[in-house]
Amino acid sequence: MNYEILANTIFPNIDKEPEYYISKYPKRNLKEGAKVTRYAPSPTGFQHIGGVFSALIDERIATQSEGVFYLRIEDTDQKREVAGAIEDTINTMHKFGLDFTEGMTGDNTYKGEYGPYRQSEREEIYKTFARDLIKKGLAYPCFCTSEDLEQLREKQISEKLTPGYYGEYAICRNLSPEEALKRIGEGEKYIIRLKSPGNPENRVEFHDLVKGDISFPESNQDIVIIKSDGLPTYHFAHAIDDALMGTTTVIRGEEWLSSLPIHIQLFDVLGFDRPEYAHTPTIMKLDGDSKRKLSKRKDPESAVSYYDEEGYPMISVIEYLLNIINSTFEQWREENPSSDYHEFRVYLDKMSKSGALFDIVKLSDVSKNVICKLKADVVYDYYINWAKNYDKEMYDIVTNNELMCKEIFNIDKEGPKPRKDFAKWNDVKEKIFFFFDELFNSTSEEIEFPKNIDLAEAKRVIEAYAKAYNFNTDKDTWFEELKVVAVELGYATDRKAFKKNPENYKGMVSDVAGCVRTALTYRNNTPDLYTIMQIMGEERVRNRFAKFLKL
Ligand code: GLU
Repeated sequence: MNYEILANTIFPNIDKEPEYYISKYPKRNLKEGAKVTRYAPSPTGFQHIGGVFSALIDERIATQSEGVFYLRIEDTDQKREVAGAIEDTINTMHKFGLDFTEGMTGDNTYKGEYGPYRQSEREEIYKTFARDLIKKGLAYPCFCTSEDLEQLREKQISEKLTPGYYGEYAICRNLSPEEALKRIGEGEKYIIRLKSPGNPENRVEFHDLVKGDISFPESNQDIVIIKSDGLPTYHFAHAIDDALMGTTTVIRGEEWLSSLPIHIQLFDVLGFDRPEYAHTPTIMKLDGDSKRKLSKRKDPESAVSYYDEEGYPMISVIEYLLNIINSTFEQWREENPSSDYHEFRVYLDKMSKSGALFDIVKLSDVSKNVICKLKADVVYDYYINWAKNYDKEMYDIVTNNELMCKEIFNIDKEGPKPRKDFAKWNDVKEKIFFFFDELFNSTSEEIEFPKNIDLAEAKRVIEAYAKAYNFNTDKDTWFEELKVVAVELGYATDRKAFKKNPENYKGMVSDVAGCVRTALTYRNNTPDLYTIMQIMGEERVRNRFAKFLKL
């Protein structure tokens, strides 16, 4: 009876019982095997690539099983909250093709029958359950100050004991309801703690969907369930929300694994069925010889905005993350080059159990493979969309030369081995600048020459070639004509003959082509030269030769 008075004194405005919510949020009616997952970020405003990684796993597991993927906002730490962060999260995920079936739809709106989906709006629910636990003697107010707790910690550490608020060290756990009521009446500050029924000598066996079979001692920590601001801790909110919202599969970062004993106990104490858990590896990066967490401060690639700014197509990032999630994705992609990634089935038990390594070079490879398969028109659209925001000069140039740009993006595309020039839209300018007079100037660009050929010799070649050059020819004739110039200038057209007596020649016909390439592009390495010359058009080619001869 006294516990009841205590509970009602602590929560005078709560008038519901747990049963009310349990019947308000009935079991979901889903087909057998359907998984309910959630993405549950704190609205701090920073979109970390790890968030996309988590949400992708959640979305795949839910969608593959025809289940539900919902967005819950964990904003019980209100100091960290940033305005607009919820919409930003939704928009970011949408860009990556990750759309929620249920949950928050905006800063103040949601869809679904299990809401509200924002923890700060669920205060009454948490308090209802906390009040019930107090009534049953399973939770209690704790009046210890932070100094008291610090002293306790120091004592435990010096005595080599497990630190924490538990057993005999949990001073307030044994206060009688009368004493507690008296202290509350005197205006003392308090928080609510669980009266843990655990005994660390017992072990709990558990099967994690990623980590496999694990076991750990029962928790005996009297963890905080309601903080002094009246809001729940992560632990308490997790148990109540995931139970009432019908989450079947809690997929979250492995940093939560060590709290699992607490969570399992909370589900038991609250009388809820435990969900399945999958603790996913943290995204790491190789730094020198050692691995470390991708850091918001040190690694620009930790921010989702980085991929936008650099112009990685979102689908490249998703395919790269799928590689990290299941390394079998790479082979699947090779075997199914044109399938939609949604057809690849993600398995939690095939995830790496230790750190997932994030490697920007590998991302570039994946992205080149993605972009090389896109049609030139699509590349054009993607590119101008990116350039509009991040490179106004290129946006103007490219949109003023739409047809030509589509031809450029189509170079060597249709064949069985399309070129892999671009990993991201920020690479495009450097690869195509030479087509545009406004970007082609020798003072700003380092000129590359064929090996063993200097400016004087290159000029000699261009002078001769400019006279012989014919625009209106097919590729074979064009090459034959180039060969004639080469021979005139003392270059070999036969590799064997050249190899045998290199001293008899200036070089090979490929060096002559190389000089033409240099004069037209200032580069040593470009797509097919004949195609470039056709796209540039006769006038531009001739102007380039003239310009080169004046260098
Ligand atoms: N809000 C928690 C976080 O951002 C979510 C963890 C979970 O998914 O349960 O880490």
